[in-house]
Amino acid sequence: MEAVACNLCGIENSEPLFRGRDRLLGGTQIFHSVRCRSCGLIYLNPRPDLDEIARYYPAEYEPFTRYKRVQSWAARLSYQRSMNKKCRIAAYGLKPGRLLDVGCGSGDFLLKMQQVGWEVYGLDLNAAACEEAGRRGLEVFQGQLFDLPYPDHSFDVLTMWDVLEHLHDPLSNLKRVAQLLKPGGRFTVTLPNPDGLDFRIFGRIWTGLDVPRHLYVFPRKTLMALFQKAGLDVVSSRCMTGGQRVSTWSLEWLIDEHISDPSHQRRLKKMIYTPVWYWAWRPFYFILDLFRGGSSITYKCTQSSSRTLEKG
Ligand SMILES: [Zn+2]
Repeated sequence: MEAVACNLCGIENSEPLFRGRDRLLGGTQIFHSVRCRSCGLIYLNPRPDLDEIARYYPAEYEPFTRYKRVQSWAARLSYQRSMNKKCRIAAYGLKPGRLLDVGCGSGDFLLKMQQVGWEVYGLDLNAAACEEAGRRGLEVFQGQLFDLPYPDHSFDVLTMWDVLEHLHDPLSNLKRVAQLLKPGGRFTVTLPNPDGLDFRIFGRIWTGLDVPRHLYVFPRKTLMALFQKAGLDVVSSRCMTGGQRVSTWSLEWLIDEHISDPSHQRRLKKMIYTPVWYWAWRPFYFILDLFRGGSSITYKCTQSSSRTLEKG
């Protein structure tokens, strides 16, 4: 475990926010989420270092194996819908070009983008996920953004779907993103939204915190400051995808927390994952998203205009 300073302002002056344990893998280890007193960034401190973190990602970690696990027709349909939506979001208004997906898992999104004409590349830390993506014919690198063998200004689009909050050094990664973008290129990033309704309702059991895998939670003002420091301008921010899923997952944790009878637990969990539940609540989440109150938020950025001018 390592103790860290705030990634945004670099100072070590934080207040305790929540104590939590790993709800995915179980265990008794307690993790501490803190909030920077200066800028408001929420982060895990102390946290597993780069060598330790892999052990907190089970081999069946959902994003690495999602396409294998989606089995019922309803789940398959909803998964396909969300994947198509990601493609529309990433490609909106652009002609096909070179795309890099950071944290690509087994490559479902890349395959979809390839099918509609994009030249796709992926990057992930997880060896098994990279192998799986390789078997599916994708060009995927195992490692970090800094290890990539591409020169600056190589990509028209970079995407990070629910990845930034997992990284040990978001600021350096965002700076690398800004370098890798072609002038006029676009960076799309989706991440948990602590300014939404769920964080207020669920608090320490909000799945956006997912300790110890989520090392950061970014309130909007901290994210804007990080983007600016990294040399990225925000073009838009909207709740577009995944909020209802994150919310349902938080409900699951609420059931774990408050219902002790295993059979009641099972019944309730089954209920919140039925299509009827999903569609009954859909209008509510639709409206919540309109007001940026959803649990997941998508930012679209370009290289900042000052950086573009510097490069001439
Ligand atoms: Zn700070």
